[in-house]
Amino acid sequence: MKGQIDGNTRLMGLIGNPVAHTLSPVIHNTLNELTGRNGVYVPFPVQEEAVGLAVRGAYALDILGLNVTVPYKQAVISALQSVDPAAAAIGAVNTLVRSEGGYKGYNTDMPGLLRAISSEGIQLKGKTVVILGAGGAAKAVAYLCMQEKAERIYLLNRTVERARDIAESLNRCFGRSGITPMEVKEYRQLPEGPWIVFQCTTLGLYPETKRVVIEDTWFYQQTAIGIDLIYNPAKTLFMQLVEKAGGRAQNGLKMLLYQGIIAYELWNHTEIPEEMAEQVYDRLYEAVHPAGDNIVLIGFMGSGKTTVGHRLEQYGYSFIDTDAYIEAREGRSITRIFEEEGEEYFRNVETEVLSELCTNTKHSVLSVGGGTPLRRENARLLRELGEVFYLEASEEEIWKRIGADTNRPLLQCEQPMERIKELLAARRPIYEAAARYRIPTGGRVIDEIAKEIYHDRTERNGI
Ligand code: NAP
Repeated sequence: MKGQIDGNTRLMGLIGNPVAHTLSPVIHNTLNELTGRNGVYVPFPVQEEAVGLAVRGAYALDILGLNVTVPYKQAVISALQSVDPAAAAIGAVNTLVRSEGGYKGYNTDMPGLLRAISSEGIQLKGKTVVILGAGGAAKAVAYLCMQEKAERIYLLNRTVERARDIAESLNRCFGRSGITPMEVKEYRQLPEGPWIVFQCTTLGLYPETKRVVIEDTWFYQQTAIGIDLIYNPAKTLFMQLVEKAGGRAQNGLKMLLYQGIIAYELWNHTEIPEEMAEQVYDRLYEAVHPAGDNIVLIGFMGSGKTTVGHRLEQYGYSFIDTDAYIEAREGRSITRIFEEEGEEYFRNVETEVLSELCTNTKHSVLSVGGGTPLRRENARLLRELGEVFYLEASEEEIWKRIGADTNRPLLQCEQPMERIKELLAARRPIYEAAARYRIPTGGRVIDEIAKEIYHDRTERNGI
């Protein structure tokens, strides 16, 4: 939202209990801000006996739309004017949209998950899917797998009766017996992989992060892709086991993002472009991954990251050059990595290294490769590491500093100055978006730049 609350401000909100830790306001208020809509999103804790009253009261107050969270996704249905058929089949509603005479209920968790996995290039059609859990979320996932024509769906739950109930109702709904219910401990009877596994139990959720439904390595060796609906912690034990066995793992943060975006689209009769969705995701990511106490220096080659970084050591920081870190880890130079494995491989290693540094680096200053922030995921990881400073330098300054350097492969061309101009024009907006602060470096001595970074930082953090 831009500006003040006024007579035209539309209210959106969330009902549930508890609601204090919800991330939905981050999604919707960011969308209000980015789209310029005059709207505000507020969470409302509601007591069980007052759910119907709250829904009718919200309608009377002309509240534009509501989300519904645990434990009212089923209970709310009786207070609605109508229910979308998919939400009715799942038996859970998480979004209320105004309609003639009352709210209509939708389930955006399911299409939200579909958009989240599609954005990662994951398709369900013809695949073997294993779903762990048989609660509300698992039922939405099972519905999605049937809708997307997964070939075989195994629904594993500790309480097998719940898995049976879901299988029975969805197999009937779709007119085919695609879902096989099983007790979790029978998992060794599953056919061999590759599988796509959805982890839909509450095990592993913060603060009990050391828990997982199945520990057996065999299970993870069959798992080509593992999607955990949990997003706190960002990497659950389930995801770690998937990756350790060589599979791909994803958490539930994108699902959360897209269920919110779809609700917002329904309320406002609009379509949120992908670039805007990414911006909202940046905010969500920051909300669940608070920044570490490191200093991160980004910028074009020749902007002074290494020199300034070393100068910051005088303030008690350890210095890490991420390119040198990668070379040590890989046991070969970056030029050789490029030659032997190609750029894609190098970029993947770079992302892995940043994730690793996020878990094991404190009070350090990191000088980061000029191309690193170009990957959006890397830019998020850099902000997770610490405060990001963009060292700005003009084309001329860069040329002055590195023009004679023959070790810069990007500049080994006929018109290096033109190349610098071209690259800088493309990268400048990306550096600006990735950084929290811009530090001009032209015509300044190193000490002055280092001092500005250090003092700005300590003042802001009250150290
Ligand atoms: P739910 O209805 O309470 O279901 C919980 C599930 O976890 C049940 O299958 C339950 O098995 C299983 N479980 C709990 N403790 C267990 C244990 N000790 N051993 C084995 N299984 C156990 O919860 P839900 O609403 O489906 O949510 C499930 C998860 O999905 C939650 O972590 C939630 O945060 C997440 N979620 C994420 C999003 C998102 O946007 N990313 C959206 C919705 C949900 P029993 O039936 O045997 O008790």
